[in-house]
Amino acid sequence: MANLRTHLLMAVCIGIAACQGRREDAARYDILYARTDTSTAPSQDFFHYANGGWIARNPIPDDQSTWGMANLVVEENLSRLRTICEQAAGRKAPAGSPEQIIGDYWKTAMDSLRTERDGLTALQPLFDRIDALNDVSALAPIVADMRKAGSHVLFSEWVYPDLKNSERMSYTIWQGGLGMPDRDYYLKDDSSNTSIRKAYRTHIARMLMLQGVDSSRASAAATNMLALETRMAKASRRLEDLRDPYANYQKHPLTGLPKLAASFDWPAYLSANGIKSIDSAIVGQPEYLSSMEVLLTSTPIETWKAYLRYHLLQDLSDALPERIAVAAFDFNRLFTGARARKPQWKRAITSTEVAVGELLGQRYVKEYFNENVKARYVQLVEDIRLALQERLAGLTWMSDSTRQHALVKLASMKKKVGYPDQWKDFSGMHIDTVSWVRNVIEASRWWHNFEVGKLGKLVDRSEWSMYPQTYNAYYDPSNNEIVLPAGIFTVPGLRDEELDDATVYGYAGASTIGHEIIHGFDDDGRKFDEKGNLQNWWTKADEAAFVRRAHDIIRQFDEIEALPGLHLNGKATAGENIADLGGVVLGLQSYRKTKEFRENRSIRGFTPVQRFFLGYALGWTENTREEYLRNLIQTDFHAPPKYRVNGPFANLPAFHEAFDVRPGDPMYRPDSLMVRIW
Ligand SMILES: [Zn+2]
Repeated sequence: MANLRTHLLMAVCIGIAACQGRREDAARYDILYARTDTSTAPSQDFFHYANGGWIARNPIPDDQSTWGMANLVVEENLSRLRTICEQAAGRKAPAGSPEQIIGDYWKTAMDSLRTERDGLTALQPLFDRIDALNDVSALAPIVADMRKAGSHVLFSEWVYPDLKNSERMSYTIWQGGLGMPDRDYYLKDDSSNTSIRKAYRTHIARMLMLQGVDSSRASAAATNMLALETRMAKASRRLEDLRDPYANYQKHPLTGLPKLAASFDWPAYLSANGIKSIDSAIVGQPEYLSSMEVLLTSTPIETWKAYLRYHLLQDLSDALPERIAVAAFDFNRLFTGARARKPQWKRAITSTEVAVGELLGQRYVKEYFNENVKARYVQLVEDIRLALQERLAGLTWMSDSTRQHALVKLASMKKKVGYPDQWKDFSGMHIDTVSWVRNVIEASRWWHNFEVGKLGKLVDRSEWSMYPQTYNAYYDPSNNEIVLPAGIFTVPGLRDEELDDATVYGYAGASTIGHEIIHGFDDDGRKFDEKGNLQNWWTKADEAAFVRRAHDIIRQFDEIEALPGLHLNGKATAGENIADLGGVVLGLQSYRKTKEFRENRSIRGFTPVQRFFLGYALGWTENTREEYLRNLIQTDFHAPPKYRVNGPFANLPAFHEAFDVRPGDPMYRPDSLMVRIW
């Protein structure tokens, strides 16, 4: 069961900047000045002007796909979490206590000798059941048990508030089951995707051979399995077509699921999955299940068996012997561009976080989260909220009736800052020192049961879908809330009080807080009301005025060719781009009210407004490998960092004025082509 952490409908936004600096001379060091590349004019490419110096001096390490601000925070957090894990492992703690769970999990994840010795024994019972399959009618309980163990095949599913009744939890079935990140990898015929498909077929055969299948059978099975997944990809909707909440919502009684796919044993599946206390499911893409039915009846059982075997091994490969983990890494690097594997301790922490990230977070905030910092950002949320309230009052394209609804929604928007008020209870998760992969499976089962246990119940609005230490933030439309974990306030190398307001309003006020608040009013978020229900509060004319503006921003991003022949997907990234543009507008409006702005002093040659724009760009300092960039453009709802800076800024007269941008400059856009939404 995919839990909320990966939920598509939430606007999850790597958004905040953090600041890094080795300060040999604190008095003269300026984090904004230090990273510029003044050989590029700001009017030519502002992203490069603001960050190019740092990027040139900081090449991407071999084990990373990107290198920038986000990575520096993540690296700092990894070493903090390592301390937490090591301390837990060094104590003797009662069974079921947080120390015992963290400590034992960490010990097995670090014990590579044991992982080698255990081999595939933990997976053998599932392999045996797959081998014994004679007919697709017996597939369903195996798919359910694989899902509980952490291997997600055939389709996706999750538990989330019913979009049309945000008080109740619902069970959603979604397209899924592919081994590559998006349908485009299967269907696009350019040379890059063609060679990736070839590499995938080789990889499937390699993984089957690692399970003992002989090479000619493995090779034939790989060809058949790739053909099967290609048909699944064809049946899947495009990335941009998954964002419309109305078009991806169809309620079906559970007893009606066989009408969509009769050959799949739904009663056995739901029962094995523990799905009860509800009588209906929301099916995101009903036509996907109908296509699945065709595939179930027309694909030989041997191909299905190869498909299941491959995915079980691939999905759990991190916790398996080196020969398997290395093979999986060799494949994954096609999408990440990483040249080397991360060291064992980092992989162990990632695994521990997936299992019990909130337990680590509980300790993390005790050690590393400063309550004064929290107070600063709680206040900043209110300042930004006020800025949007003022903007709403002055919007000329919106009627008073829609405006009133928008104001109510804004006033009701909840904020969660730092860490949850209530912590989850993990005492029922049975972690021991027997084996890493067994612990991975146990944690996956625990999470599955935790999610399924919500069905039929009222929504718990206090729950967090990110860990406190996570360097990210989100807006959840079903809860009308913004969530800002403590991790986004981590500032490697600098203390929060060392940052001037321009920097803080740019990187935190605009690119995170303003951005998240605007998600409540982007092309998706605007469809939800103040209680989190999918319910229209717009007049027809206002809706048309909004859609026109959204189309303009879609066109702007569609025009960008980020790699030769590969344009950005304006429609898929529209929500994020609307949030970026609105976030900058709100951040600047709030910043103009500060004492620092009124004093109008320049620092290191930059005016306050110039520093605000540099502060925003700071958060997007990033070097990206080409493989990963290609992956992001095909699978991510966010534009790459460079365009999250240059894209919105070209629409802002205040930016043009601050950096003397003139007609003919690449960053220039005439007033008639500037998009203004919020
Ligand atoms: Zn976002």
